[in-house]
Amino acid sequence: MNKIEIIAVGNEIVYGYTLNTNSTWMSAELEKSGIEVCYHTAIRDRQDDINQALNIACSRANIIILCGGLGPTKDDFTKEEVSNYFGLELCYHQQTVDDIKNFFAKRNKIMGESNLKQAYFPKGSTIIPNHNGTAPGCYFEQNNILVALFPGPPRELHPMFQHFIKQCIYDRLEVKCLTEEIRLYGIGESEAANKIDDLLGIFNQVEIAPYIQDGYVTIRLKGYGKTKEEIKTNINTHKSNIIERLQPFVIGEDSRNISELIFDKIKLKGYKISTAESCTGGMLAARIVDNNGASEIFSEGLITYSNEAKTKLIGVKAETLDQFGAVSIEVAKEMAIGVKNTTNSEIGISTTGIAGPTGATADKPVGLVFIGIAINDTSYAYKLNLIGSRQEIRKLSVDHALHLLYKLL
Ligand code: ATP
Ligand code: MG
Repeated sequence: MNKIEIIAVGNEIVYGYTLNTNSTWMSAELEKSGIEVCYHTAIRDRQDDINQALNIACSRANIIILCGGLGPTKDDFTKEEVSNYFGLELCYHQQTVDDIKNFFAKRNKIMGESNLKQAYFPKGSTIIPNHNGTAPGCYFEQNNILVALFPGPPRELHPMFQHFIKQCIYDRLEVKCLTEEIRLYGIGESEAANKIDDLLGIFNQVEIAPYIQDGYVTIRLKGYGKTKEEIKTNINTHKSNIIERLQPFVIGEDSRNISELIFDKIKLKGYKISTAESCTGGMLAARIVDNNGASEIFSEGLITYSNEAKTKLIGVKAETLDQFGAVSIEVAKEMAIGVKNTTNSEIGISTTGIAGPTGATADKPVGLVFIGIAINDTSYAYKLNLIGSRQEIRKLSVDHALHLLYKLL
């Protein structure tokens, strides 16, 4: 069985200055191709640490992917250290020197001496050209272990890695994996798990587990097998079983996110949507605009934070604000209707709530949020009691608002 380990090399990763997106990105790319990663390691730019990490990786994996430290400076020595570890000498590669010279020439610059070391590779390596930078990657096989090296900058790494998957890894692996998701809304993780308790775990080469993601529960089914067809058949048996048991809560069976799902629904109906936001301060509009082609469905986004703005811009009645307060079901509803009407849209959606950490009163705690939704002549309002930091409450408000709208559409 093949086991893959990814080692991210860089002080900035381990010290916490840079988020290790390379490892998660590479894992996700491999998973898309049906290849599973077993281990992630992150280490400093230190010779000892590289050696130790390789000792561990060689003891448990047979494909080792390193990224970072291929640059021209003195603190970049991943390639040198890895060659040393596997007892391979570094060999000069003329084509790489020409490529680097060209890279600089195109930018009206001359290659510096320090770049020369980027043209040396462990003996027997296949070189992966870098069209967005000077550090090529490479891979070689030694003692039945496949070792691959990539530069740290994501925009350089990404195309090189995709090339590497196609050229080197994909055909090597006999067992592939495939992941499918069932997305739920309106049910908690433990309640969902209880309903399908006997199906959770690994059965017939399919691993089934619930996850929480963006305010909703996802049941993920990961199947293993030799062919896509074989895996799909195994997954489908479990999938229909789960969908049957959780039917009222199922909102989707693919991995598109909620804002993509909404985009399709609104576009299909030929509607326009507008937003009036208080506590989310534009985050809801931003999520809708995340979709390519948003102008086809999105009309206006207003941040009506103060009472005055709510009255002046979208016609919330002063009496309603006086009687119920800005954070209330009545105001949420009037905001949704108001923004729908003032913008000539078919859909208006609003948020008003107490994101905290201050601002709570005896009857209005932090996390109390109302969502208003008006679609044509009908309006709805929902009360949420959310838990979290200010940022978490604002983000959850948006997630809930989108899910509630999706259910109504
Ligand atoms: P360079 O030629 O740019 O020096 P390099 O291969 O030596 O390339 P590093 O010096 O390790 O790469 O990293 C360069 C930059 O790439 C870092 O400053 C960081 O912005 C980014 N980077 C490195 N490793 C990662 C990682 N694991 N995840 C995300 N970004 C990373
Ligand atoms: Mg570097």
